[in-house]
Formats: sequence, structure tokens, C-alpha cells
Amino acid sequence: MSDEMKPLNPETLSAQALGWLEPTHKSLIPGIFPSTTYEREADGSYPTGRAYTRDHNPNYDQPEQLLCALEGGRDALLFSSGMSAALAVVQSLRPGDHMIAPEVMYWSLRNWMLSVGREWGLEISFVPNGDLGTLQAAVIPGRTKLLWLETPANPTWVVDDIAGWAKVAKKVGAHLAVDNTVATPLLTNPLKLGADIVMHSATKYLNGHSDVLAGALVTAEEDDFWARVKVNRSAGGAIPGPFEAWLLLRGMRTLHLRVERASENAMAIARQFEGAKGVRCVLYPGLKSHPGHDIAARQMTGGFGGMLSLCIEGGEEAAMAVAARLKVIKRATSLGGVESLVEHRASVEGAGTPCPPDLLRLSIGIENAEDLINDINQAMDGRNR
Ligand SMILES: *Cc1c(COP(=O)(O)O)cnc(C)c1O
Repeated sequence: MSDEMKPLNPETLSAQALGWLEPTHKSLIPGIFPSTTYEREADGSYPTGRAYTRDHNPNYDQPEQLLCALEGGRDALLFSSGMSAALAVVQSLRPGDHMIAPEVMYWSLRNWMLSVGREWGLEISFVPNGDLGTLQAAVIPGRTKLLWLETPANPTWVVDDIAGWAKVAKKVGAHLAVDNTVATPLLTNPLKLGADIVMHSATKYLNGHSDVLAGALVTAEEDDFWARVKVNRSAGGAIPGPFEAWLLLRGMRTLHLRVERASENAMAIARQFEGAKGVRCVLYPGLKSHPGHDIAARQMTGGFGGMLSLCIEGGEEAAMAVAARLKVIKRATSLGGVESLVEHRASVEGAGTPCPPDLLRLSIGIENAEDLINDINQAMDGRNR
């Protein structure tokens, strides 16, 4: 037998957080390094390469390298939120550059693009999700520098072909950045499908316990664009505190268990309510009836994620009433935690939303699936009372 070990699988890498030991005490769990500043040598040098915490903090090393390993990237950066990670990418463009994003995507980021992004001189086109033809036609050779993609996309879970988008980007020398928050690195690795940058709201599945706000970027190449992203982070200082980074690493150790269980639960709920009385439609990429199912089945490995939406017959009022009657599933925003959440997205997003008014977005947690199904059933049964 050879001494060479096979490369470790993602479950092992995340459970052991790459197996790192804290060198001073050999502790399995890292310490927390709150120091904002580091001593210079007498000759003026910084022997560990660290000078000031706005550039980098020791508590970022392990989660960043774990993310690189899970996504198959060269370098990663933690941010103070998913939004600050996304904005570091978009703000690395220059005034007059053209970028393309899908019509259905994370609402706050789309709003920023439509308001501040355009005012700062970016030309931004929105294309229908799941339509490579329109994407191709929207590209302006020489001017399109960034394609932004989210798949499955909030809150209808439309699926896009990452490899198809990557081909379009390569042809004109644009970067493709993919918001992989919902799929997680366990179910989809955009860099392996040709994307250049992956973005995560680490607030969601990566941390998984609804107690940290954080974001992350992972890059396939350390190119000039990535250098601009890094300058944006160190200069802007949109970084998590050391304790937040420490909590994030703790959460990432159980990523695979949580995502697997949430995916199983979501699939059970989607199957249970597809075609059920009072349900107009179930939007979940794992269902054969979902328009993006074939692409999702190719692109996602090991499950279809924990996010799904139920459209309720009777419109907005009926949907709100179902949400109001839920007892186990909590009415709250956000997603990717161990506890299940429901949200009426159209009223949250307001005017101009592409979200149907009868849609309830569910973030399915790791509870017992039957308890969740029973809860939705009792909330649906109350409809005619
Ligand atoms: C939450 C979320 C974001 C924004 O992340 P924050 O950590 O809240 O700033 C971006 N994209 C998706 C898909 C999200 O769910």
C-alpha cells in the first residue's frame, strides 16, 4: 500500500476545519485574536506580514482557506456581510463599464444596482433568468466586464446554466461572478463550471445558526480584477470582527450535515404539497415539474437545497393568512439557519418586484420533516374557516 493519501472529501475538510491546530497550545479550536495592531521589528519590518487588522485578521485564515478548498479556488476573502462581498466585486468595475445581471435575484443587491450602481456610472442590463439567447444578445464586446449570476435565484428558484454563462463571459473577456449562497459549496461549485468568482452570504448556510452576519468571495485566479477587489476590502474595511469569523468557522464544521438534512426536508415538503388542495404551485428545483430541473440535476450534486416557495390559491391575502397560522415555522426574513422560516416576499420587496403576490418563501431547516408538514397542513386547513 502506498503512503500517499487520497485528497480528503469536503465532509472531512469542513468537519475538521482543514485539521489545523493552533500552534502555541496545539488546541483543535483556534483562539480569537482581537488585536487591531502588530509590532514592527527594530528594522521596521513586520515578521508575520501583519500590520493592521483592517487588511486581515488571523481569524480569517482558516475559514478563507476552508472556503478555497470547498469551492476549488485560489484565494478567498471574508467580508462583513454578503452584500459587502457582492459590492466589492461590482465596485471593482470602472465607470462606463457594462455588466449584466438576471431579473430574478437577491432583491437588495438588484435595488443597489438600479439606484447607486447606475448613478455611479455603471451600465447595467437585466436579462430574463434561464435564457442564454437573451444573455448572448445583451453582451457588448469590449464593454461588458462582468456577468453576475444567482442560481437557484431568490425567491422563485429559477435555475441558470453556469457553464453556459461562463462561455458567454469568456468569449468577451468578462468575469463571471456567481452568488452561490443558496446552493452552498456542497451542492454546486461554480468555479469548476467556469465561473471566475463565487460569492456567499456566509450569514446563511455557511454559518447556519442565524447568529453571524458575514460574506465571502472565492476566486479562481489571482488576476488584476481580484487585486482591485482586495484593495476594495482593505481600504473599505467591510470585514467581520474576529469573533464573528470564529463563529463562522464553527458553523462551517457542520455544513454538510445541515445542508443534507435541509435538502431532504425541503424535498419531502415539496413532494407533499405539489398538487395539494389550495396550493397553486410549488417552486423547487428538485421537482421534475420545475422548469430548471434538468439543469439543476446536472449542476447540483447531492441535493437541491433547502429553499422552496409555495404559491397559495386565493392570492396575497390567502398567502398572508397561511403564514399567519404557522406555529412551528417562524415568520422571519433570512435563510439557511437550522430553524425553518417563512416570508411573504412580494410585500417585503415592494413595488417593481418580479415576485408573485401569492408566494410564500420557505427556508427549510433541520427539524423533523413531519412536524413541518403538519404545521403547513394545519395552516392550510384553516383557510376556509
Ligand atoms: C442574504 C443574501 C445576500 C446578502 O447577504 P447579507 O449577508 O445579508 O448581506 C445575498 N444573496 C443571497 C442569495 C442572500 O440570500
